[in-house]
This record gives sequence, structure tokens and C-alpha cells, in this order.
Amino acid sequence: MSPLLSVASDTATSPGAVIVLVILGATGYIAHCVIWPYRACPTCDGGGRFRSPYGRAWRYCNRCGGRGAQLRTGRRIWTHIKNTDRNR
Ligand SMILES: [Zn+2]
Repeated sequence: MSPLLSVASDTATSPGAVIVLVILGATGYIAHCVIWPYRACPTCDGGGRFRSPYGRAWRYCNRCGGRGAQLRTGRRIWTHIKNTDRNR
């Protein structure tokens, strides 16, 4: 068994290590959402608009409104938590 596999099987058996890995993953995802809050729109692949098959006409993407970017779910949650007023 390779050292990497033995480490992976060790973490799978001990629940404390799994919890630490989940916390590390969540922290990494939150940091990722704070630094890069947007992702490419899945409908237009970040282009923001669609060209007509003929001519030079185009229209904006309905999903992102022509921006080509969408706010990540983690960033939306982060903004909601930050804007929650706890002093009421
Ligand atoms: Zn779009």
C-alpha cells in the first residue's frame, strides 16, 4: 500500500480526522468565495450574450442579464451572514 493510500484509509477510519478535513475544506471554500465571488454563468459560459445564427444580431443572456457572471452560493451565504444584524 502506498503511503498516500494508507493516510487516506487512516483518516477514513478516525472520525476526528474526518471532521478536521471537513472544517479545512469548508474554510478553503469560504476563502475561495471571498476572494473570487463570481463564477461563469452556466447558460452562456461567461459570454453574456448569444449571437443569432445569421447576421450580426445578438441578445443578452436571460439568466445573467448580459454580465456573464453569477454570484457563488457560498458568497451569497457569506454576505447574508455578514449583513445579519445581531444587536436587535
Ligand atoms: Zn449568462
